[in-house]
Formats: sequence, C-alpha cells, structure tokens
Amino acid sequence: MRLTLATEPAYPDRPNEDFIGATPDAVVLLDGAGTPADLESGCSHGVAWYSHTLGSTLLAGMTQSPDSLTTILASGIKATASMHDFCCDLSHPGSPSATVIMLRRSADTLGWLVLADSVLVLDLLAADPMVICDEREALTGNRYRGPMNAAAGGSPEHLQALSRYMEAMRAHRNIDGGFWVASVDPLAAEQALTGAVPAERVRATAILSDGASRLVDRFGLATWRQALDLLDDSGPEELIRRVREAEHSDPNGSRWPRGKTFDDATAAYCRI
Ligand SMILES: [Zn+2]
Repeated sequence: MRLTLATEPAYPDRPNEDFIGATPDAVVLLDGAGTPADLESGCSHGVAWYSHTLGSTLLAGMTQSPDSLTTILASGIKATASMHDFCCDLSHPGSPSATVIMLRRSADTLGWLVLADSVLVLDLLAADPMVICDEREALTGNRYRGPMNAAAGGSPEHLQALSRYMEAMRAHRNIDGGFWVASVDPLAAEQALTGAVPAERVRATAILSDGASRLVDRFGLATWRQALDLLDDSGPEELIRRVREAEHSDPNGSRWPRGKTFDDATAAYCRI
C-alpha cells in the first residue's frame, strides 16, 4: 500500500481530536467526539487523549494479532477503559468517545471496519466508488438539529444550541435504536459495519473524518468520484484546503448549517 495523509485541527491553538496512524498493512482513523466546555464528561484526560490512546492501541493490535477487526476493537476499547477507570467516572454519559475506521490488508484481501460517522471510500476497478458510512448518528441527530441550524454559527445562541444538542444525543449513545461509538462498552464493536474485498479489485481507498468528508456529504462541492480524483492528483492536503476554503466562505453557517463552523479534518489516501 502507498499511503499519503494529512490532518489538521479545527483551530491551530486547540488539540486535534482526530487520530490517524498506519503500518505497511494497516490504517486506523478515529474522530473523537468533542465535549462543549459547559458539559461535564467524568474524564480528566479529555477527548484527544481518548482517541489517540485507543487509536494507537488498535494499531498495535492489528499488527500483533490475526483476530478479526471486531475482536481487536472490543479488546482495544476494554484496554483503554482500564487505563483510566480507577481515576475517572466511566459511567458518566459524556465519557469520551470516538468514531473508528480500521483497514487491513492481509494476503490478497482488504478488510475494513467502520463505526459511527467517519467515511471509507473504496475506489473499485470497473465499478462505481463504494462508500461505507454508518449513518445512525446522523439519523438520530436529525431530531435535534433544528435549533442549532437556525442559529448563526459562532453566536452564543448557536453554542448553547450545540450544547443542548450534544446533551440530548447522549441519551441515545450506545443503546439499541440509537447510535454506537467507541467509548467504554466493548460491545459497541459488534455494532460496527465490517466487510472485505479482494485487494486486486481495489485501485485505492480514501479514509476521511467527517471534518474532511464534509466537502462531499455536507457542502456538496464534489462527488465521491471527484474527491477520489482530487486525492489521487493533488493529495489529502489539497482536499483539506478546499474544506477550509468552503468553511471560511460561510462562517455563519447560512449556506451550510452545521454544528461546528470548523472541524478537525483528517484524510488518508491509500493506493493498493
Ligand atoms: Zn479519563
């Protein structure tokens, strides 16, 4: 695999809550779910610590173990919980969480796991791009987005609506009928989307946190085909530059209502 990647925090003075890591045969991307400043999380470490710790644990697991990606994710969630269950309140509904994408090449097969709303795109030879995204969080969120979308991005009303939105979403996290993310419960791993394809059928793959995929799935400024071509021609940095350009052109969210005016953005492009 030949990999190029770029990652950038939403604001230069704040930690990047995305995690991206790779070995010659594996790629892992996590997008930590931020907690608004006025909400408690029960954890003194924070979201960036959580996503970076779980991400590096998963990468180590993928290189050391032939187990299924689901099993490696369940073990990783458990191991990460054990690193702070003695000092943090992991029963808190706002405990740090993250989306997960795991991609592994073994022999002639490319296997993947997708949990929550990061996006994996497979550029298949002789077929349209295959887009794998777990939409349960977005579908649940549609019920609560109204007040947030109505307020001008960055205004105190918007911040308050975002906070209320996130609090409402906590009640649906990691329960049947809601949405699933990596947090404290290893059973979340069983809720991930998984699959495999023969590696010879895949030209390349794109792995995007939602801060990068928004160029296509929120802003509609490119199709998945165009995004793959952009990654191939100009690389992940250029894709993120275009996302930032769109965000700056709509600072109040009047054209594209969104919870975060800017978001941590990570893109990896892997030629198989
Ligand atoms: Zn903690």
